[in-house]
Amino acid sequence: MGLKNLSNKRFELKKYSAVSLSHKLIDKNIFPIINIDKSFENVLNYQIKSLKPDKLLIREPIYDNEIKILNKIENSFKSLEIVKIPLQSLINHKEFIESYGFPETFSKFRKIVEKNNLILNPIDTKKNFIDFKVRSNLNKEYERIVDIEKFSIKDFINYLKKHVKSYKETRDQIHGQNISSQLSVPLSLGILSPRRIVKLINEYEKNVLSNQSTYWLKFELLWREYFKLLGFYHGSRIFNPKGISQNENVIQHPEVYDWSKLEFKDDLVFSINEQLVKTGYITNRARQIFASYFINNLKLSWLSGARYFKSYLMDYDTETNYGNWMYIAGVGTDPRGGRVFNLEKQKNVYDPNMEYRKKWQI
Ligand SMILES: Cc1cc2nc3c(=O)[nH]c(=O)nc-3n(C[C@H](O)[C@H](O)[C@H](O)COP(=O)(O)OP(=O)(O)OC[C@H]3O[C@@H](n4cnc5c(N)ncnc54)[C@H](O)[C@@H]3O)c2cc1C
Repeated sequence: MGLKNLSNKRFELKKYSAVSLSHKLIDKNIFPIINIDKSFENVLNYQIKSLKPDKLLIREPIYDNEIKILNKIENSFKSLEIVKIPLQSLINHKEFIESYGFPETFSKFRKIVEKNNLILNPIDTKKNFIDFKVRSNLNKEYERIVDIEKFSIKDFINYLKKHVKSYKETRDQIHGQNISSQLSVPLSLGILSPRRIVKLINEYEKNVLSNQSTYWLKFELLWREYFKLLGFYHGSRIFNPKGISQNENVIQHPEVYDWSKLEFKDDLVFSINEQLVKTGYITNRARQIFASYFINNLKLSWLSGARYFKSYLMDYDTETNYGNWMYIAGVGTDPRGGRVFNLEKQKNVYDPNMEYRKKWQI
């Protein structure tokens, strides 16, 4: 699948998730929006005009471009009440910063959250949920949306039952079936709430099994949350070549303008790129290796790398993507000042029989 098709697909998914959410609350005449970006602006305009809601429930805009889009909406629909809330988070970011400031390391952040029990309960949307089946004007598109939602929760519960018990041992592999939760796509689209996921894991731990793996899945969700907090606190600085780093001597590599000239000569990185371009998904290990190669071997700007991922990843998420790229480039919050992955070592440990490379080099 080419780039255009993949990004179209992501756009379609985003559209479905937004329409789906809007129908959950539409009887209350509230129109909720999670993603605010340029591609979404037209859809938003169209939806407001056709559904005429009284209230717009919108994720608190953080970045300059989001604020601009929202200003435009505010000016175009003067009677619309716009309620900005920090959606899609495990904790209350504003209260966290007021009480603790921004923790320079993930470790400090995690300890504060765990010690003070800061993860919030999911918002109860059940009472607002409309049974789509009884709606007479239901069309095929909406049926598909319902499927996406149901699939996400059902799929995750299935993952909990069958695979979570070994998550800590498998999540770091470069490929394989059910090695990780696959939560990133529904999370990035706003289809699943991270709070609901944590609640489901807690229930599973209480009633079925609690081990290092069940804890580790919550640990990774806290990484996501840390990068969300970072975006909230640092705003558009996360798009700077120097990232959030205070270091004046940060090496700034050149940006990529002509992607057709880019070559991945290493067989592992070549394979990772193939998988990324063809499927829109690669594992965390593969993302780390790719990012390190891009920055440390090709000596190219981490920002270009982050944009490259943005154009291909099905689960693209601003804070998680830029936060991870900054981390590896050493312009984020890594106390070790960035990461360099030795390719030969990675191959020996994660693809000793060349299974992965053979699969993607054909
Ligand atoms: C350079 C780079 C770019 C990335 N870009 C994105 C992105 O655009 N969107 C995205 O969702 N993830 C991104 N990640 C994080 C991670 O690779 C994916 O979330 C994960 O591979 C998705 O698969 P999963 O849901 O099965 O993960 P699991 O291992 O099952 O993790 C469960 C959830 O925890 C969170 N999580 C896991 N690993 C990380 C991490 N390293 N940082 C922050 N949160 C994490 C995610 O929300 C994930 O869905 C990136 C990582 C790197 C190194």
